[in-house]
Amino acid sequence: MALSPSSLPVLHKKLDIVSLEELKNVLNRSLKNNFKDVEVSVVDCPDLTKEPFTLAKPGLGGNTKLVEVGGAPYLLPTVQKDKVYDLKDVAKLANAVNVFIIGAGAGPYPYAGVNCEGIFNLVIENSTVQQQTRIAKVDQGKNESCHQEILPDTETRMALLGNLFFSEGKPGKVLKIHAKTRTGNKDFIASIRESLEQEFPNKLIGLGGTFLLKEGKAKQHVMRDFSKTPIGTEEELNKWLKFYNMSAPMIAVGTLINGEGGLDLRVQHFHSFSHHGEAGHYHIDVTPETVEYLGYFNVGEEIYRIDAPKETHSFGRD
Ligand SMILES: [Zn+2]
Repeated sequence: MALSPSSLPVLHKKLDIVSLEELKNVLNRSLKNNFKDVEVSVVDCPDLTKEPFTLAKPGLGGNTKLVEVGGAPYLLPTVQKDKVYDLKDVAKLANAVNVFIIGAGAGPYPYAGVNCEGIFNLVIENSTVQQQTRIAKVDQGKNESCHQEILPDTETRMALLGNLFFSEGKPGKVLKIHAKTRTGNKDFIASIRESLEQEFPNKLIGLGGTFLLKEGKAKQHVMRDFSKTPIGTEEELNKWLKFYNMSAPMIAVGTLINGEGGLDLRVQHFHSFSHHGEAGHYHIDVTPETVEYLGYFNVGEEIYRIDAPKETHSFGRD
């Protein structure tokens, strides 16, 4: 069961393209406001299928797009369970034929049996699927531990909301961002995004990619199963979410953008998975003195906004 693609409204916009060199110069300067050691460079993308990233494709190049589907209003205050999307349909709606998809969204609850996080990481090529997506759910037992599992190739659905980066997974130049020891109060992604907001106020710039939490621990949440009562406040939301401090190494995937562009966008959204069982929605590291991040990002050429909620709110987008 997934919504029919013909029922999904699609908005589309070209993004502003800034060269990786220019981004490098800006970020080398501005990230120092938040991290002690910063090194931003333009490099050939390392093979991301290899350790430590273990993504489904080697690079982030070729027909790059940000794709935002649904939104938090489909989850809060009350879940709309019909909001289930097949990423094969989403790819067609975004004019992507052979596509490497990474990003953060709600996992397919009809498959999981409960609400769950999706750490999307898959290839759709000539209608064959190579699935490396993980889902994370809160164990229904008393200790509420985090349970991570990998989806089979036959399961390509996403529920409710998602922020995805589309490319052809090709090798090529990318932005490498290495940051150690957090001295400011912003998370890794917010520090990049807010730099772009300040430096390019009249441009709409979107990035997608991956980062490794190489050292330290991060505060991450996993959504519990759907709430039986409406969630109307930030306090109720934080009570419903299950928070964990998850340990490095964690591999995060997602998107960021320096504005909403009139499309009612979620401006940053990254989910992380690991090879030690932990996975969830990234908020911030909780070990500023020892934290180390290593990220690879590319610039999106355009954005697709699919099935944006008609009645919207700004709640639950952290
Ligand atoms: Zn999330």
